[in-house]
Amino acid sequence: MLVKEILDRGDLVPDDATQAMIEHRLEQPDCKAGALLDGFPRTPTQAVALEEMLKKFGGQVDAVPYIQVPEADLVERLSGRWTCRAEGHIFNEKSNPPKQAGTCDIDGSELYQREDDRRETVQRRIHVYMEQTAPLVEYYREQGKLIEINGDQPIDTVTADLLAVLPKPEQP
Ligand SMILES: [Zn+2]
Repeated sequence: MLVKEILDRGDLVPDDATQAMIEHRLEQPDCKAGALLDGFPRTPTQAVALEEMLKKFGGQVDAVPYIQVPEADLVERLSGRWTCRAEGHIFNEKSNPPKQAGTCDIDGSELYQREDDRRETVQRRIHVYMEQTAPLVEYYREQGKLIEINGDQPIDTVTADLLAVLPKPEQP
């Protein structure tokens, strides 16, 4: 609930709450062979905390894929999302528009924009993100772990590019 409140404002979740959630998740048995973190760490401080955390499990960060998309495209993609009130079906103005604006194709219920899908919130979130993340990109680039992927391509191409460069998991 605390996290939802923060996200609805367009802010980022504070480090201690995030790290506790990540550590709890990485302790689960399905992470023994490795894990892919999406959106964490976001700052060099979090990156150092992550390394400390991984040491406890005898692990390390192997690779850091960085999917690059122009800021204007990000706002366009993220702010076009509409959610159905009844079942949470998701539409996108650009990539997956409903047949009739404001109405769910599947069950005919009303579509609304979640607070964190609104343009102003999205713009603010991206701005905060870019500002905080720039030093992190440099941090991992210096370590030789950063893998830059062009995100301004079709989803299938981005997926293929990612799979081509990600380290293969070790076989048990
Ligand atoms: Zn629906």
